[in-house]
Amino acid sequence: MTGSKSISGRKLPRYSGIKTFFRLPSGDFKDVWDVGIFGIPYDGATSYRPGCRFAPSRIREVSALGRGYSLVRELSWFERLNVVDLGDCQSNPMDQDATYKGIESFWGEILALSRRGIAIGGDHSVTLANLRACKAVLNEPLALIHFDAHVDTYPASWGSEFHHGAFLRHALKEGLVDPDKVVQIGIRGPLNDIADLDIGKNNKFSVYTVADIRRLGLDNFCQRIPDFGQTPTFITFDIDCLDPAYAPGTGTPVPGGLTTFEVLSMLQSLSCPNLIGADLVEISPPYDHADITSLAGVYILSEIINIMAAFSRND
Ligand code: MN
Ligand code: MN
Repeated sequence: MTGSKSISGRKLPRYSGIKTFFRLPSGDFKDVWDVGIFGIPYDGATSYRPGCRFAPSRIREVSALGRGYSLVRELSWFERLNVVDLGDCQSNPMDQDATYKGIESFWGEILALSRRGIAIGGDHSVTLANLRACKAVLNEPLALIHFDAHVDTYPASWGSEFHHGAFLRHALKEGLVDPDKVVQIGIRGPLNDIADLDIGKNNKFSVYTVADIRRLGLDNFCQRIPDFGQTPTFITFDIDCLDPAYAPGTGTPVPGGLTTFEVLSMLQSLSCPNLIGADLVEISPPYDHADITSLAGVYILSEIINIMAAFSRND
């Protein structure tokens, strides 16, 4: 089954209608589709500015402007994949365990049908549940491409293990990711001390700071991002890898970041034959201005779906 049934802007102007991601039809697990996008409206693990519980609804609104064509790949996912909006998974603003259960059950249904999913967070704590669900179904550790200002292997805060800066430490401990196949892009986050980098170093993650990327040059860097072949791969995209000038609406902004053009270029050139899922996290609409951050998120999402389209199982 190919082609997405997004409502045309000629038929219904883009500012009108009931908002779904990219004006796609609402989907159900009973329907036939290739990729399901869903929201995780949870921000109970944020350490500074909250608000990313509002990201799924805001991104639905702003994605009315989204298009499917990738200039570099010369293809449009609108034509190659049937993508639907699955709505939001169950979440509980007071209870992270209940939220994780809701997330895992959603992914479980998607992956049991051998389909692919994209989750719109939510704070970065939700990625642990996303990865747990993928590992449970696929039964092998994943390759992980992690865009972020922060390493997200930080220790517990206020005695809480599962805050939004710790998902990768737990994913590693639980064997959800293959440490040889973890790439971190955009790192520059404020460190308490140099020991904050130890987990990545000791496990031989491929870590690229913004300075590394600028030194290499964009095209050169894009060619260095590894291709993990048939290893199931997950992209987790924390919007704060972008500079606050390009993504002001986020929980823990860090100056000195990547530009929107740079991250779109990276996604446009990424070779990722077995991308089973992705998430986009940490967009906080209450701190956004003129939807700059949400709109960047929409275009990032579109490029991620185009990776799935470029390596479509229909080929
Ligand atoms: Mn993060
Ligand atoms: Mn971050």
